[in-house]
Amino acid sequence: MSASLVPDLPAVVTPGRLFIDGRFVESLSGKSFDSINPATEEVLTSVSEGDRADIDAAVAAARAAFETGPWPRMRPRDRGRLLLKLADLISANAEELARLETLDNGKPIAETLNVDIPQAAEVFAYYAGWADKIHGETIPATNDHFTYTLREPHGVCGQIIPWNFPLLMAAWKLAPALACGNTVVLKPAEQTPLTALRLAELVAEAGFPPGVVNVVPGYGPTAGAALAAHPGVDKIAFTGSTEVGRLIQKAAAGNLKSVSLELGGKSPNIVFADADIDAAVQGAIRGIFFNQGEVCCAGSRLFVEESAHDHFVEALAGFAGALKQGDPLDASTQVGAQVSDEQFEKILGYIESGVQAGATLLTGGARQGEKGYFIQPTVFTGVDKNAAIAREEIFGPVVSTFTFKGIDEAIAEGNDSNYGLAAAVWTRDIKKAHRVAQALRAGTVWVNTYNAFDTAVPFGGYKESGTGRELGVQALDLYTQTKSVWIALD
Ligand code: NAP
Ligand code: MG
Repeated sequence: MSASLVPDLPAVVTPGRLFIDGRFVESLSGKSFDSINPATEEVLTSVSEGDRADIDAAVAAARAAFETGPWPRMRPRDRGRLLLKLADLISANAEELARLETLDNGKPIAETLNVDIPQAAEVFAYYAGWADKIHGETIPATNDHFTYTLREPHGVCGQIIPWNFPLLMAAWKLAPALACGNTVVLKPAEQTPLTALRLAELVAEAGFPPGVVNVVPGYGPTAGAALAAHPGVDKIAFTGSTEVGRLIQKAAAGNLKSVSLELGGKSPNIVFADADIDAAVQGAIRGIFFNQGEVCCAGSRLFVEESAHDHFVEALAGFAGALKQGDPLDASTQVGAQVSDEQFEKILGYIESGVQAGATLLTGGARQGEKGYFIQPTVFTGVDKNAAIAREEIFGPVVSTFTFKGIDEAIAEGNDSNYGLAAAVWTRDIKKAHRVAQALRAGTVWVNTYNAFDTAVPFGGYKESGTGRELGVQALDLYTQTKSVWIALD
């Protein structure tokens, strides 16, 4: 094995417990589950398994913190200070968090060190800045009233997150909710609970009042479903599959809690023949193989204009085959392991179905090595547009390429999906770029780039990719409601 970037790898990761009302506790059932290192298939540690009763306890703590605790009554600027302190603590512990994330998820350490952890810190710092800038307005509606609005927190927020960017997704959820004065019960994904639990330690260290942030690891159908249906939860925010998103929306109907959903995608990456082809090839590589393809906005449908197609896919396959895959703790690794056995089998099943459907495998298509959930970067061409690999979210390092002729076909094909999370267009023609960007039904459109993100820029889905926008000022809308106050003047 080659040298690790972080040599002081702990032999044992501390067992995880639930974080409720400012304390770490065992689950009421006494049950626990294992967290696995997907690169070695070995158990990293055990984690207490939260269930309905633990969710009840966490919601009660969050409710008490909201109704009678100092949090919503604190000066907004002081809430901002605490968020900033948390951002600083994440930065101060970045190496440890990066190592923990890489061990638990299988993603390369170069990415956790350079993307996941610094961006998580940045999200808390960004919303720290918003805490004292969230306010209503005065409305000159009638002459005999003074009328104004207040932006108030919902109260208790339930937040359910996936395993692909565990700490970063926790930050996207927690930071705006807290900046607005809500209290939170967070359920991390069962595959990757460790950084959320380390974050809970940092929340305590920063000095957040007890009950403001509660973290309950557990399974989706038990702990997650209990949170989504809970009558004591005012708002539920979810990131994950479209299938589970539907369940969340149904579960939330009981008390009509406010719902925001960031769901799956099958994003079109559209390359015109007049594009900078070398840049577009690199963009396509980044678009699909970043994070082992476990990205909701992955560019998994790649459309290349007919005259450029053959040359393009040949170059793409060459670069894909040369990506360095292996030990996620090695600083030079570019592609790590898939998160779990289940995900590994699912992706291999899709690859097999693509071959069965008559698509041509240009590169990859198999497991890498004999241990760990590694799958080779895979490029299919000649894909039937109705095949499962062309329509369904694979959430793995598998791209399907297609040809098209002209702008109208590009738009029609790009929009031919139930999803609408993201899209990209590559061209040197500025008019074409704007026309396509406006015509694509997606929450994000990248032009001559892919996977560009910033905390200040909203992100979310059209169609079955979700509802609501996270990040930016828009996320404050998810975590506040407006009260209108009328004062009679006559
Ligand atoms: P998932 O089932 O949607 O999981 C996301 C989160 O929801 C996890 O915390 C999960 O808990 C929880 N959950 C599952 N069932 C639930 C329920 N009935 N009620 C409440 N919460 C529930 O996603 P997955 O099974 O891990 O992955 C399956 C597919 O989802 C992937 O292949 C991919 O296509 C898609 N996905 C999309 C995103 C995204 O960012 N849009 C992220 C991850 C996955 P547990 O996992 O702990 O059981
Ligand atoms: Mg794990």
